[in-house]
Amino acid sequence: MVDRSTAEFKSYVDAYERASLLELGAQADAARWRLHPSSQVSYIIDRNINYTNVCVADCKFCAFYRRPRHLEGYVLSFEEIGRKIEELKALGGVQILMQGGHNPYIPFEWYLDLLRYIKRHHPIHIHAFSPSEVDFFAGRFGMSIETVLRELMAAGLDSIPGGGGEILVQEIRDRVAKKKAGADRWLEVMEVAHGLGLKTSVTMMYGLGETSADRIEHLFRVREVQARSNGFTAFICWPLQPEHTALEYLGKTDAVTYLRTQAMARIVLDNVPNIQASWVTMGPKIGQVALRFGANDFGSLMMEENVVSAAGTTWRMTLPEMHRLISDAGYQPVKRRQDYTLLPEAA
Ligand code: SF4
Repeated sequence: MVDRSTAEFKSYVDAYERASLLELGAQADAARWRLHPSSQVSYIIDRNINYTNVCVADCKFCAFYRRPRHLEGYVLSFEEIGRKIEELKALGGVQILMQGGHNPYIPFEWYLDLLRYIKRHHPIHIHAFSPSEVDFFAGRFGMSIETVLRELMAAGLDSIPGGGGEILVQEIRDRVAKKKAGADRWLEVMEVAHGLGLKTSVTMMYGLGETSADRIEHLFRVREVQARSNGFTAFICWPLQPEHTALEYLGKTDAVTYLRTQAMARIVLDNVPNIQASWVTMGPKIGQVALRFGANDFGSLMMEENVVSAAGTTWRMTLPEMHRLISDAGYQPVKRRQDYTLLPEAA
């Protein structure tokens, strides 16, 4: 557990709340250059595939899901998923990010068959099933986390996205996502995955009514797991998109809060190699500024995004636009692989 009374913890909360924006940016930028002493900014071309929107978790911040038997509920067929992958490959895409709701009607064999189908007919890197889904599978099918992951890996799973992290403080999760994997369990899934050799990303969605100390605790918990398992490749944070959700009354946090939060992440998470800018939620201009606030990666040129966009504002861009934005901010855009190694030629 995180001890909030230590001098280190207090100093980070103090910096988060009181340091000037530019001071935080300068510290985060210095940390970024220590880890990545080059003006290259990476990005990836991938596609978000949400295989089902049927879910029983009822997260209060989610406008994407539909309860079972709702007329708008869906499960994608293997063929539809295959078509989406081929469209992605035609644009030079190298991975799919596949996540879905906690759908109680899908048997475990379906997931294994899906992974095998993709690897056999549309081979690509499969970044899929957030810790909340893995925890749901374990509970639903009476298996340990390790067994679930081993079976998914044997069928073709390559890495795990950091979705569903929100704020890794139990009191906050109890208020907004009570039925989903708790903070300890979410981190446990990640640590088991790392132990099995799976790399994962890690996220934070803030603006759920938590305090600054809650956000810093989230970062400390990530750093603590990373010190043991070293499997987190990248951190990305974004604010709650409250429109059309039960948390609409909380309102939206602003761009300054985003930049301060991302900067703190770069400063605290000295053992997580990459920080991704979230231009999808913050827009391209703030995405550019984020490169001076600790981010060394411009994230994904996503062909499809359904979850955040269901709750309102999201942004899209073309490859030339992405290159221009990165270049105009003073960096060199470089396409990367799913493991964050850079591809030799700028695409
Ligand atoms: S965020 Fe995910 S787990 Fe929560 S309700 Fe939406 S689809 Fe379900």
